[in-house]
Amino acid sequence: MADRLRGRTIVVTGGASGIGAALAIGFAAEGANAVIADLSLEAADALVAQIRSDGGSASAVRVDVTDRESVRTGISDTIERHGRLDAYFNNAGMNAPMKFLDVTEQNFELVLRVNTLGVLIGIQEAAKQFIAQGGGGKVVNTASIAGRQGFSSFAPYSAAKAAVISLTQSGARALAEHGITVNGFAPGVVATPLWTKLDRELEEIGEGQNGFDSMASGILLGRAADPADIVPTGIFLAAPDSDYITGQIIPIEGGMILV
Ligand code: NAD
Repeated sequence: MADRLRGRTIVVTGGASGIGAALAIGFAAEGANAVIADLSLEAADALVAQIRSDGGSASAVRVDVTDRESVRTGISDTIERHGRLDAYFNNAGMNAPMKFLDVTEQNFELVLRVNTLGVLIGIQEAAKQFIAQGGGGKVVNTASIAGRQGFSSFAPYSAAKAAVISLTQSGARALAEHGITVNGFAPGVVATPLWTKLDRELEEIGEGQNGFDSMASGILLGRAADPADIVPTGIFLAAPDSDYITGQIIPIEGGMILV
């Protein structure tokens, strides 16, 4: 165990799987109280048990990031258990691919609701808690390379992640007067359960097989990311080392789109 995050309380939405789970494990290993806020309480509880058995501090709360009351409850539960909030990772996200000409209002609204509205609500509610504590605090948003380039079968997702980059900038400008920083990171292709579902759905809509492998094939460093590749940047953005950075998105994509 190291101690770069000793005593800090960090909420990770979508923390029960993939990138969020790796972040929660990494934060706890650095001495933080990791709060796993996820739609699936069962998966969050299982991860809490794993972190505790490794000697870390963690708790679980069921949160739907699209529901403001649920997000508020997640934060008040965090304060009850751990006393304060130091960083809030808006990491929950999903994709539902469709061919560009087939995208429906329903598909667009669902993807924007989870990936974008969920981030707006998360920034707002975390900031209210930070302000109530007297200021300071860090918000970190999970964007994507898809927010820098529009992908044809991921149009709503790309739009949603571009909006996450924009919300990061707006939030940084709005909240700096309270000493709150708002940053994010943009992963490339990361081996998580999201991709298992995505590969299946891409095949179902006739957009080819092995989307994961074909997207990863052009990465300069020669491989897709593991969730563990995201963790050092997450720790940096949660720790005092990043105190003078705000409104920024750090790409973690192994050399792929280079923007
Ligand atoms: P994942 O599917 O493994 O995990 C996502 C988690 O979010 C799940 O535990 C799920 O239950 C939770 N979740 C979904 N909707 C939610 C909601 N409304 N409220 C609360 N929790 C909810 O996915 P992942 O690959 O770890 O993705 C994490 C983040 O990283 C997402 O924002 C995703 O868009 C982004 N991202 C992933 C990749 C990749 O290649 N995997 C690349 C770039 C960005």
